Amino acid sequence: VNPLIGIFGGAFDPVHIGHLRLAIELQQRLGLQRVHLIPTGTPVHREGPVASGEQRLTMLRLAIDGEVGLHVDAREVERNEPSFMVETMNDMRRQYPAHRQCLLIGMDQFAAFDSWYRWEDILDTAHIVVIQRNAVTPPTYGAMAQALAERQINDVKDLADSETGRILFINAPLLDVSSTRVRLLIATGRGARYLVPDGVLDFIKREGLYTNGK
Ligand code: ATP
Repeated sequence: VNPLIGIFGGAFDPVHIGHLRLAIELQQRLGLQRVHLIPTGTPVHREGPVASGEQRLTMLRLAIDGEVGLHVDAREVERNEPSFMVETMNDMRRQYPAHRQCLLIGMDQFAAFDSWYRWEDILDTAHIVVIQRNAVTPPTYGAMAQALAERQINDVKDLADSETGRILFINAPLLDVSSTRVRLLIATGRGARYLVPDGVLDFIKREGLYTNGK
């Protein structure tokens, strides 16, 4: 079977150890060839991330620091407007036709997945791996409950049986950290040491990012 690539999207404003640990745990447990970390593009006409797309890419590259299982992917930043996930996934398919893809999302995102633009088409491009957070339970009614009834698998091994369209829940340790908290710690002068890799913190300092409470 074709090797699997993981897709992990987010603002990464900034990247923190919660993102990095989750990406590497899933890479190992799902047997992914690598995980693409894909920061979102910056919206032109409304409020977006504090750091620019280039800054967020630089922070990700500093964070990954030679880890072969992780890959910084600039495709959404390089577009001028935020991308729909279905476009990103189709783009990936064109670039890596000999791979299969696994979209990595949280349970909260999964519960609202049927509000994503052309969500059913996304299931034609990839498997979905849903990261279970302790208390949050899967949807029991509506479109996503229906999708689960048709598509859910219970074992990592079953991902190999089809090219796309399976849904797998997986438990992964989530560190109690968010980008919002990191920005707050920096803005209030307390610093975010040990939550964000040192190289990324040096960059944040040099660029004067997140200092004014934004
Ligand atoms: P913010 O606080 O600005 O909302 P965030 O820390 O949630 O940011 P995002 O860049 O929005 O980070 O998230 C990217 C992805 O990482 C999302 O799928 C999100 O569910 C996941 N994620 C966020 N925090 C953690 C964490 N502590 N551990 C594992 N995954 C996380």
